[in-house]
Amino acid sequence: MSVGIKSSFVNGQFVEVRGDEQILENRNPSNPSEVVDRFARADAALASLAVEAAHEAAVEWAVSNPQFRADVLDRIGTEILERREELARLLAREEGKVVREALGEVDRAGRSFKFYAQEALRTAGEKIDSVRPGVGIDITRQPVGVVGIISPWNFPIAIPAWKIAPALCFGNCVVFKPAELVPSSAWALADIISRSGLPAGVFNMLIGPGRSVGDTVMRHPLVQAISFTGSEQTGRQIAAIAVERMAKVQLEMGGKNPLIVLDDADIEVALDVAIQGSFFSTGQRCTASSRLIVTEGIYPEFVARLVERTRALKVGDALDPKTDIGPVVDAKQLEVDLDFIQSGLAEGATLVCGGEVIVREGGYFLEPALFLDVKPTMRIYREEIFGPVLSVLKVRNYEEAFAAAEDTQFGLSAGIVTTSLKHAEHFKRNSSAGMVMVNLPTAGVDYHVPFGGNRGSSYGPREQGTYAREFFTKVKTSYQLS
Ligand code: NAD
Repeated sequence: MSVGIKSSFVNGQFVEVRGDEQILENRNPSNPSEVVDRFARADAALASLAVEAAHEAAVEWAVSNPQFRADVLDRIGTEILERREELARLLAREEGKVVREALGEVDRAGRSFKFYAQEALRTAGEKIDSVRPGVGIDITRQPVGVVGIISPWNFPIAIPAWKIAPALCFGNCVVFKPAELVPSSAWALADIISRSGLPAGVFNMLIGPGRSVGDTVMRHPLVQAISFTGSEQTGRQIAAIAVERMAKVQLEMGGKNPLIVLDDADIEVALDVAIQGSFFSTGQRCTASSRLIVTEGIYPEFVARLVERTRALKVGDALDPKTDIGPVVDAKQLEVDLDFIQSGLAEGATLVCGGEVIVREGGYFLEPALFLDVKPTMRIYREEIFGPVLSVLKVRNYEEAFAAAEDTQFGLSAGIVTTSLKHAEHFKRNSSAGMVMVNLPTAGVDYHVPFGGNRGSSYGPREQGTYAREFFTKVKTSYQLS
């Protein structure tokens, strides 16, 4: 075995490294000369083996004892939480999220496993009287079978956890393919799962490219369901293929989330909510508020103070406790962010602060950028950037603000800062986003309640909480003559 090279986990063990595989180097975006880990890339053949192993294990796992499943999930959650500091530092080194946020993400991952440990004991069905005499009906939930899980780079441990935990809880076998930018957290999670007592084949993890390994998993006829989080573009491809072969599919994709600030807002709350929701995690969250819609009464003071607060944000190494905002995830994403900034300038928006690359240790550091004089037709206002770039739109009143918030192809999260009960209630009731926040950032949600959006942001049943049952089980109706 090649020393120090990590590998995929298939059929109960980490695959032996032959030495002729392509090597994936995982680099630290705060300091790209640092290699976090090296991995032997899986290929399509290994992906097929993983699916076959999962299929082999599926019949027994589907009828496994719920207490056993609960104990396994609980053990995984316990180890994640016990190792939170170490896992958070690893996450910060590979993704660039600051340690404070990485700790929150690791906790969320651990708690998701603990939540589904409990859910494993609550798999009740229903008993219903038939309309025919002497006939009884049972409605039960059954596992779907083999589930393919494909995750993005921006939540390297929480997203895998909130998909893997319910999949296993409801008796499914898993083939998990993390994003290639963040294999180390995925590997650490697989390592924890490998010691949890799961039978071989129930959980498999493949480190490899989307176009070969992900594609093989998604097209494999033995994979009955696909849970995907990532870009809208990849999501659309996956949906088309899944529907064609009639696999169950769940997609969580992009966002261009609005945050409305009304004249009656508590300005301190509004500033905190805007700064956190827009720039924390370097703006690399599907729930980030990248459109700020501000009514004209509060606009001058709010914007002046927002500029001050934005300028004061400390951009730096994700491991430095003084850092507010870590690096952009890689050179490619930095280029995307800079292209959007150029397009904002070219279309006539005013860049009031930020937008410059900070040269330090070769890291992908970008000053958070704030645009004013934004028009709703501009690309920076319409398209998901996935970086620390915020556009501010001035409007006259709540009605205009609401219409502007709704003017988007996405529908993941939407927020409002107001002290008006009337506007808060109207917004909660009428916003077409899947998640609505009042006086809270658009990003930052609980782990035990449904997560998801509408339109171009999500497709299929909700993730998380008890609602995850909808995707990870199928319904059976049984009739019996007594
Ligand atoms: P991406 O679509 O490039 O990749 C996501 C995953 O899909 C990766 O594991 C990738 O390897 C895999 N993949 C790529 N092409 C594939 C193919 N042809 N077949 C199978 N798998 C394939 O997305 P990303 O850049 O990793 O993540 C950023 C995106 O994720 C953003 O758009 C963001 O909004 C979105 N996101 C959404 C949510 C949500 O819950 N709505 C959460 C986090 C991130």
